[in-house]
Amino acid sequence: MIGSKPKVIVIGGGISGLSSAFWLMQKGIDVQLLERDSRAGGLIRSERVDGFLLDYAANCVFNYLPEVNFLCHNTGLSSQQILRQESAKKRYLLKDGVATPVPMRLKEMITTDLWSLRGKLRALLEPFIPRASSESEETVSQFITRRFGAEVYERSIEPYIAGTLAGDADKSCLKSTFQQFAKLEAEHGSILKGVIKRKLTGVRTACAAQVFSFRNGMGAMTEGLKNYVGDSFLPNSTVEGIEREGKQWAVHSDVSGKKKIFHADAVILATPAGEAAKLVDPLSKNLSILLKGVEYSPMVVSFLGFSRKDIDHPLDGIGCLFPKKEIDFNSLGSLWTSTLFEGRSKEGTVLLTNYLGGARRPEMPGKTDEEIIALVMEDLKKVIGVKGKPVMAKVIRHRAGLPQYHLGHQMFLEKLDEHLGLIPGLHVAGNYLGGVSVRACISQGKELAEKIDSCLKKRGKRFTPKENRLKRDQASQVKST
Ligand SMILES: Cc1cc2nc3c(=O)[nH]c(=O)nc-3n(C[C@H](O)[C@H](O)[C@H](O)COP(=O)(O)OP(=O)(O)OC[C@H]3O[C@@H](n4cnc5c(N)ncnc54)[C@H](O)[C@@H]3O)c2cc1C
Repeated sequence: MIGSKPKVIVIGGGISGLSSAFWLMQKGIDVQLLERDSRAGGLIRSERVDGFLLDYAANCVFNYLPEVNFLCHNTGLSSQQILRQESAKKRYLLKDGVATPVPMRLKEMITTDLWSLRGKLRALLEPFIPRASSESEETVSQFITRRFGAEVYERSIEPYIAGTLAGDADKSCLKSTFQQFAKLEAEHGSILKGVIKRKLTGVRTACAAQVFSFRNGMGAMTEGLKNYVGDSFLPNSTVEGIEREGKQWAVHSDVSGKKKIFHADAVILATPAGEAAKLVDPLSKNLSILLKGVEYSPMVVSFLGFSRKDIDHPLDGIGCLFPKKEIDFNSLGSLWTSTLFEGRSKEGTVLLTNYLGGARRPEMPGKTDEEIIALVMEDLKKVIGVKGKPVMAKVIRHRAGLPQYHLGHQMFLEKLDEHLGLIPGLHVAGNYLGGVSVRACISQGKELAEKIDSCLKKRGKRFTPKENRLKRDQASQVKST
């Protein structure tokens, strides 16, 4: 080991790399975090424009994991947290061009206009549908259509996958996307039966579920983590190569234009999969090919600010998702950001964030800002009755927006483990592994830190700071005698 404490180099300062660093530091492991950009956060970034607060990627954390609360508490972030506003509880789905509330209670499910009577009756047959007959993996669309019928799939799940994961439900792996659904079917033979049984037996999430962000946007979270990592966070540091030197790792980097080599006991590649593929290529062609195969969907985000009086709709919800069936529309979804959290727009105005592109419309990033704004305005005029011009407009593009968990993703994870197992001390973290959400990235970081800690303990005894001082004292006594 290098020095008295083990050291891990984390490559990439998005939420995956930052949270991995946090959990490693909690274990008393030295960390060096190398980030290519001049700022921390990766995809996550918050910016104030003309009195509006824009979040480039994650807008919020939907949390039910105690580790997320632990991280916020121990980085001092809890005091900056804000919860979703009461007025943002409703969700809308577009049905024949009309924003229609998503039913949340049984009674609403019976009376909703979202599904036809035939569609509702088909969905109610779900408890009587037998389990999947074969062991083969199913896509989300196959599973939902089989259990609930085509209408529930087209009018609820397809727009959810497209609007929140930029995905295509015809390709998405059920087990990787909706693990809970697969589990409920396996355990109870039915999703509805499973949900009802859980409610009756009082099964709850590990901590109270809540939707939160921060007063200054999600960028505050990555900034808070960067501050926690302290001087060990090196911005403007592009890793160009990694190499094994005996039991150690040498990480070749360009730090603000100067070539530098860092040494460590272990390395975490917390970059997007394509970048990780390049870095591992000299070590393992097979691993590199595997990582190169991860597909990403592009996304365009449009931020429009309006005077409140220029919108007819009450905007009494989190926003509206646009099913593929609604062919006259351009967006995947519209988030009513200023309803979701306070402080996102100035007095008398509202902020609307629309998402375009994804697997459904991958050509969108090629359009100009003016074209994107015109497409979004077309949607907003029809759905929420926008009358005036925007008082603020900004468009951003994520060319590699979100990784896609296609059929075969479970096999991908198994192979990844196999190949990484052949290269001791090399690890990967990122949103292409166990979930794209911020919550999932934080949780994976914890698991990874636990794994690395136990690997390092197996490789050599870890000493407490007191034991290290004693060892140093004994060594200097030996030298002086
Ligand atoms: C439009 C959009 C909306 C979203 N909304 C939500 C939401 O509301 N809630 C939610 O939970 N999630 C949301 N997500 C998902 C979430 O934001 C992402 O999954 C998450 O931020 C990804 O973090 P990451 O650290 O895995 O990757 P990244 O953020 O991509 O970080 C990777 C980092 O690696 C660095 N890097 C790459 N190569 C090198 C190199 N060679 N050397 C050094 N550094 C390198 C990059 O500069 C980058 O900083 C959204 C995502 C998008 C795109």
